[in-house]
Amino acid sequence: MLTRLLIMVWTALMGAVLGYGWAAWRGWRDPEWGALVGALVLSSLLWLLEFSRGLRWLRWLQKGDLTDELRLGGLWAEVAYRTRRLLQREQRQGAQAEQQLRNFLAAIQASPNGVILLDAQGLIQWCNLTAAQQLGIDPQRDLGQRIGLLLRDPGFTAYMQSAEPTQAIIMQGRTHRADRPVRISLQRHPYGEGQQMLLTRDITAVEQAEAMRRDFVANVSHEIRTPLTVLSGFVETLQTLELDEATRSQYLGLMAEQAGRMQSLVEDLLQLSRLEDSPLPDLHDAWKLLPWVESATREAQALSAPLFRGATPQQIRSVVEPALREAEILGDARELHSALSNLLSNAVRYTPAGGVIELHVMGAPEGGLLLQVRDSGPGIASEHLPRLTERFYRVDRSRSRETGGTGLGLAIVKHVMQRHQGELRVESSLGEGSRFSLWLPASRWRVAAPATAEPPQSHP
Ligand code: ADP
Repeated sequence: MLTRLLIMVWTALMGAVLGYGWAAWRGWRDPEWGALVGALVLSSLLWLLEFSRGLRWLRWLQKGDLTDELRLGGLWAEVAYRTRRLLQREQRQGAQAEQQLRNFLAAIQASPNGVILLDAQGLIQWCNLTAAQQLGIDPQRDLGQRIGLLLRDPGFTAYMQSAEPTQAIIMQGRTHRADRPVRISLQRHPYGEGQQMLLTRDITAVEQAEAMRRDFVANVSHEIRTPLTVLSGFVETLQTLELDEATRSQYLGLMAEQAGRMQSLVEDLLQLSRLEDSPLPDLHDAWKLLPWVESATREAQALSAPLFRGATPQQIRSVVEPALREAEILGDARELHSALSNLLSNAVRYTPAGGVIELHVMGAPEGGLLLQVRDSGPGIASEHLPRLTERFYRVDRSRSRETGGTGLGLAIVKHVMQRHQGELRVESSLGEGSRFSLWLPASRWRVAAPATAEPPQSHP
């Protein structure tokens, strides 16, 4: 700044000296006037130069192109440099804020929950894809639209008008159908000056899980209550009545049967919970297929014999494809044995006297191994097939109870197969017997391996 002042003074002095000299040379009577004119002329020239620089700076500002580096001399060089720096800093801060906003919106976009921002008039300012899909809003086209016009649910309208939105409301999702319900929870959060944020969450799975849990508790209570009622009835009778020995021992037999039912139920429940909690079975435990299949068949025969005493016995046999006689299974022996036993015991329990039960072991056409239990029993109507593996689902409740069923067997089998990356497959039609198959993928069996363990010792 001082330099600029000195330059101005110096210019004026130079003008005065030159003007004075020129006036003296021209023979003016008062050469001081020449000095004044000289000083004024040179100072004006300097001011003109500064003015033209100022104009260039103004034009540069109007253009607003910060990449264009303006080269000015004098005072304006400093002004231009500082302005450019200031503008560049603001531009950088603006870009940073924009990037932050983009990151923030991308994060909300990635959220599994829906987010809708409304302005003070209830117009949509922004919404993420999740909310758009859940509620059927177009995130581009519907911006600026009144949310109340897009969501015409009376519950939603009342909720948006309520003064204190403390609780979420539950609405039907856009893709809701009677056979495939979609339930969305929506909560309103006011913020800023009259703006609102709507948070949505798909709670279909949570509601279904909750309903399943309630059903499960109700089913377990019911299953336990029935034998318990019978049992306590007998206890009361034994306590209050004088009974002869034969009746007494008959009652005790019936009590033992009911206690046995409760025990089986608790064991199956514990097994299911173990299957849900324990880590997946690894591929290192291997055992030979043939002895395992033969031992499971013998167990089925042993189960069948007392049930059909005095009637034509069931014929139970196993058929193993010759190429598989040396095969080995890889997985949890206890679990897979329980799955196979469940299928065989169902076949024995639901097939009438004289029926035929066969356990076929063969390669599956699509690869993998099939252990197929075929029976000549009553078969199952097609409408029941999809529900057979539900806990406590029974086609014939009384037949299941009579034979000591818990309604959990096929649920256990399905679980075991899932844990081995396999499947439980059911083919059956009414009056034509049933085929229940355990399918194991190629990773769960092999043919001819070196030394292996004995067949599972955990057979019940
Ligand atoms: P349960 O203990 O009642 O046998 P499961 O889960 O093992 O329970 O089987 C579910 C239902 O499937 C049974 O109640 C029965 O109605 C039907 N079911 C299972 N296996 C057979 C079969 N081999 N033949 C006919 N019905 C069967």
